[in-house]
Amino acid sequence: MTQTETATLLAEITVDQAIGRAIPDAATGETIGYAPVHTAADLARAVTAARAAQPAWAALTHAERSAILHRAADEIDAHAEELAQIIAREQGKPLNGPGARFEAAGCAVWIRQAADTVLEPEVLFEAEGTRSELHYAPLGVVGAIGPWNWPALIAIWQIAPSLRMGNTVVAKPSEYTPLSVLAVAALMNRHLPDGVLTVVAGGRDVGEAIASHPDLDKIMFTGSTATGRRIIEGSAHNLARLTLELGGNDAGIVLPGTDVDAIAQNLFWGIFINTGQTCAALKRLYVHDSLYEDVVAALAALAEATPMGPGTDEGSALGPLSTGQQFDIVSRLIDDARSRGARIVTGGEAATELGPHFYRATVVADIDDDAALVGEEQFGPAIPVLRYSDLDDAIARANAADQGLGASVWGSDVDEAMAVAERLQAGTVWINQHGTLNPMVPFGGVKGSGYGMEFGKEGLKAVAAPKVITR
Ligand code: NAD
Repeated sequence: MTQTETATLLAEITVDQAIGRAIPDAATGETIGYAPVHTAADLARAVTAARAAQPAWAALTHAERSAILHRAADEIDAHAEELAQIIAREQGKPLNGPGARFEAAGCAVWIRQAADTVLEPEVLFEAEGTRSELHYAPLGVVGAIGPWNWPALIAIWQIAPSLRMGNTVVAKPSEYTPLSVLAVAALMNRHLPDGVLTVVAGGRDVGEAIASHPDLDKIMFTGSTATGRRIIEGSAHNLARLTLELGGNDAGIVLPGTDVDAIAQNLFWGIFINTGQTCAALKRLYVHDSLYEDVVAALAALAEATPMGPGTDEGSALGPLSTGQQFDIVSRLIDDARSRGARIVTGGEAATELGPHFYRATVVADIDDDAALVGEEQFGPAIPVLRYSDLDDAIARANAADQGLGASVWGSDVDEAMAVAERLQAGTVWINQHGTLNPMVPFGGVKGSGYGMEFGKEGLKAVAAPKVITR
């Protein structure tokens, strides 16, 4: 990969300094490029174009749309390194491991999965010459609003199934990571007809305008629970259907008798993937008394041994916090834990020698459930490890959160872990892993983590209008 090749894609998506917004490199603060600043008027034009393009797009057969989506996925693969470099700089995640190259490759994987999944009509009832079938029709125009933590991949999770089902899409990236989304959409748009996919790179005002836009049929939203509530209010104006993938405060429970060495790596990356800035990362860990110090020590050892640095350094495994705001949140939560008497086993301070937004991987022990680091979503490289002696008590504490995105159970006896999994309130419960996603397996939350599912057949149904035909 030469700098010139990355510069080509960047040049295609950036605008002149005079009219654009400077987008900083998450690690250094240097300007990567200038993103367009779209307004509600630009949004209105994009929706009009999407509405105009939708009938012809929907009139294609699934096979024809699928073939176009495959070409878009191939284009992303061909430019995956350029895309990964943009993600690594703008969002900050390291290129390697479950990082920016994984995100860029995942975009193509998820597009192909959506392209290849078929929703056959379902026979609902059949008797004595009458038959009712459930078909899935396009909804129309989908508004897609995304966050900054996995910007390109999450945009694709919203865009690919929507297009597959014959909808057109207007997507709004987070104001912090527009370049990653503009880049992936530019690659797709080399193959999509005009108007089928438009990116509107605006701020919260544009997000609000999407949520209540009278000519949108569906809103796919991924972001915080607080903003999710605003999206619901917006949808009172347009009755748009909603998929809300909101925040998580995922709990993990380590059962007595667990082989700590065997789980340590999965446990660490379940917590620290993308430097903790992942919706379904493990954010509160409940460990049985008998293993407590072993688990704390194993996590601390990995935290200290895992290299942190700029995303674009090939040797980095952990990166910076994406934004100054997120750095402040993480610092505040850890300072609060310290002031309450919790034990900072490792980390607990900024890594200022690396750049302005780096915070050392932090393990906090001997902390109470009512500490803010436990009750709030930290979305950063810090894990509170909580002690339990009674399993019923651990399950009750895990379920006490307002949110219910993911959860995990860690143990050597899979049947025992399954029994605990059934009692946890979450959209996904993992056993001896956390946060692993599969494009064929539906993903979504319960409680404050939102509603609706993405991926697989369920994901296609979520961007389709169910239609019963009875004869
Ligand atoms: P955020 O809610 O601040 O912003 C998300 C998007 O909403 C941005 O594009 C933003 O511009 C837009 N927005 C802000 N205010 C709006 C409004 N009033 N109306 C409409 N749009 C508005 O979230 P964030 O900080 O970008 O992302 C982090 C959060 O996202 C975390 O809570 C994380 O857990 C969650 N998340 C969830 C999932 C999931 O799949 N459940 C995935 C990734 C992130």
